[in-house]
Amino acid sequence: MSTSSSAEHASLPDSQILDHQFINNQWVASQGTRLLDVMNPYREEFIAQVTAGDAADVDAAVDAARQAQPGWQALGGAARAAFLEKFADGLEARRDSLLTLSATNNGKPLAEAGIDLDDAIACYRYYAGQARALDARQGELVSVEMEGVEARCYHDPVGVAGLIAPWNFPLVTSAWKLAPALAAGCTAVLKPSEVTPLPERVQAEIALEIGLPAGVLNILNGDGEGIGAPLARHLGVDKISFTGSNQVGEAVMKAAANRSANVSLELGGKSPILVMEDADPAQAADWVMAGIYFNAGQICSATSRLLVHEDIAEALYAALAERMDALTLGDPLAEGTDLGPMTSARQRDAVHGYLNLAEQEGLKAVRDGRHRTLPAKGYFLAPTLYRDVPVDSRLWKEEIFGPVLCARSVANEAEAIQLANDSDFGLAATVISGDPERAKRIGRQLKAGSIWYNSEQLVLPETGWGGFKRSGIGRELGPWGLSAYLEVKHVVGPAAG
Ligand code: NAD
Repeated sequence: MSTSSSAEHASLPDSQILDHQFINNQWVASQGTRLLDVMNPYREEFIAQVTAGDAADVDAAVDAARQAQPGWQALGGAARAAFLEKFADGLEARRDSLLTLSATNNGKPLAEAGIDLDDAIACYRYYAGQARALDARQGELVSVEMEGVEARCYHDPVGVAGLIAPWNFPLVTSAWKLAPALAAGCTAVLKPSEVTPLPERVQAEIALEIGLPAGVLNILNGDGEGIGAPLARHLGVDKISFTGSNQVGEAVMKAAANRSANVSLELGGKSPILVMEDADPAQAADWVMAGIYFNAGQICSATSRLLVHEDIAEALYAALAERMDALTLGDPLAEGTDLGPMTSARQRDAVHGYLNLAEQEGLKAVRDGRHRTLPAKGYFLAPTLYRDVPVDSRLWKEEIFGPVLCARSVANEAEAIQLANDSDFGLAATVISGDPERAKRIGRQLKAGSIWYNSEQLVLPETGWGGFKRSGIGRELGPWGLSAYLEVKHVVGPAAG
């Protein structure tokens, strides 16, 4: 909700009052009356206002998407692929402005914003390829035992897709939904997070620029109450794809259950990183750092539980402390910044709750807020590392979603695997060992959707993304990401001749 004064808001240019919705290729005034502040988390200044939206906006957008869907499907995969390629080109052409928007609205250092943009662009290009390949898959003969029978398999789009995205990777989480949905022949109603509407707004601009048919992509600004919940329960939405917290994801699933709608969920994580005794502590420290301090730890796949073999634990903690001390916290727009602020005051405060708890529990900090002075302004948190964290601590079990690493030493491989799998979540894991075959073998025993070995987190459009257990339902990316927007249809009857 808006907290700043109307005098401050009077200074905003009209272009920064996002009170319109993108429906049927037009910007139409939102029916919502509430306005929310959009912040620059480094300057702690509001930089825009965005409508909270209204259920009537959802009705209009879903209506437009329903009308556009048969025509979009009828275009065929190759024609849809051409639009996806142009969408990627449109993002590339805006690289500089998008990086600036991500840095100012999200607090991401420019280098990280660049990695995000590359990821989104690669996703559109990958699904352009998948859309073309889909044409060739239509009507494939299915081998059946029964004589005189012909069976063919088709892949139809699910219909209208409601796409709900979080704030930690704007443009990326929306690309992972939008690209496969459009490739499949679905039309879309996209709801970006109300926290980061500025980078996401560009998608409407690109849709207009490339001549995407009206109604194929509709973008609704708003919060959960104004847009998210009405979208999740809308009878005209055939598929809901949600990325965000477990609490909201589970509510979305309940809303979809009332009409047996198709649901994909990408939820939280508490991913382990295992460092075995044959690893090089210096190299391992680099990968551990990348797994937790990228995007200030606001990553669903953050490897936030470190399990290190006792033989190299001290060496690894020392290498981590050295690297943590060398991190530069500051202006996301400045060259050389490693760690930006948290994206919102709310998230900073949520992480503070865990830091307070750690103090009450008497956790041992290798590094925490006592070891560094934070910039005077901005929602910053000090990179933090706790060691010997008890397995029943809430910090060990719950997703913190900040730059906080919890570590424990283990006596052997079996204990590392057992503790790694002892979690409600199962999104990702990393294994580091001097023996790559051993690392892969350990990885095969972990219960998570993405396992990396001897590497930073490589996110590839060709490989699936999603979780075991409470980390979600279904997979994004790869062919599985496309299947999430397709219905399988078999046409069966007497074989000709
Ligand atoms: P959130 O659940 O608060 O919000 C996600 C989206 O849901 C936002 O667009 C929000 O406006 C909307 N929303 C809120 N209430 C709603 C409701 N009642 N019905 C429908 N929509 C509603 O999550 P967040 O704080 O934006 O993101 C952080 C969470 O996202 C973390 O838990 C993180 O692990 C998770 N995440 C997961 C992945 C993944 O791939 N698994 C990726 C990124 C983030």
